[in-house]
Amino acid sequence: LQAPALLSVQDLSVTYSSGSISALESVSLTVHEGEIVALLGVNGAGKTTLLRAISGLLGLHGGAIRAGSIRYRSADISSSSSWSRVRQGISISLEGRRIFGDLSVVDNLKAGGYTTSRAGTAKALEQVMELFPVLGRKRDLAAGLLSGGEQQMLAVGRALMQGPRLLLLDEPSLGLAPLIVKQIMEIVRDINAGGCSVLLIEQNVTAALSVANYAYVLDSRRVEHHGSAAALLADDTLRDLYLGVA
Ligand code: ATP
Repeated sequence: LQAPALLSVQDLSVTYSSGSISALESVSLTVHEGEIVALLGVNGAGKTTLLRAISGLLGLHGGAIRAGSIRYRSADISSSSSWSRVRQGISISLEGRRIFGDLSVVDNLKAGGYTTSRAGTAKALEQVMELFPVLGRKRDLAAGLLSGGEQQMLAVGRALMQGPRLLLLDEPSLGLAPLIVKQIMEIVRDINAGGCSVLLIEQNVTAALSVANYAYVLDSRRVEHHGSAAALLADDTLRDLYLGVA
């Protein structure tokens, strides 16, 4: 039996005010409760745009939804503020990490949480540091002094401070060594095992499909393929065309 849909994007089209063509063209995608779904595709395919639309950050980048809808737990959230989406359980860890380099690790994490209760923050902190022991060991270090992999973990940890039910991850493996990528993917699996569904944007197809249940391939602003991770990996034509798997 299929779990209920947590997130359902339907026929979504997006344009940016500065661009003449659409950045997404009638894109549909579903994340069921408990799943890790990978969103794959080359540069410029529209992956980041889709994440912005889901998290409510499109307007900030001069983009707007032209058609279609985004439903979360069966409610249409297409016009909700990004803040209200976070409160409803949708958190995003942005590409490029965007951490505060001068602030300590622990202050970066605290900045991610939105609960005002001290007990709530302490509990969330404890959970994040359990997941990322290295952040616990380096809690008082300026975040700018962390390695690339540790900064990525910090960015993911910060999103987790919000206690999400759906975590949106934008290229967590970007620029990291293979061993660290493997670690990050294992953590994604742990996060998921803890009850959080994940939408994982990746250019590292092998890494993404090693943890995802299901995957969508975006090409030129449309969903060109979708299927179980196993099915996508088994499709030779797809592998050659889109996935770049050696
Ligand atoms: P990347 O991996 O390089 O981030 P992507 O698959 O995430 O690629 P998007 O960044 O979503 O792709 O880009 C999709 C299309 O929208 C591209 O043609 C891009 O040039 C355009 N685009 C993205 N952001 C903006 C913006 N702020 N203003 C105008 N056009 C944009």
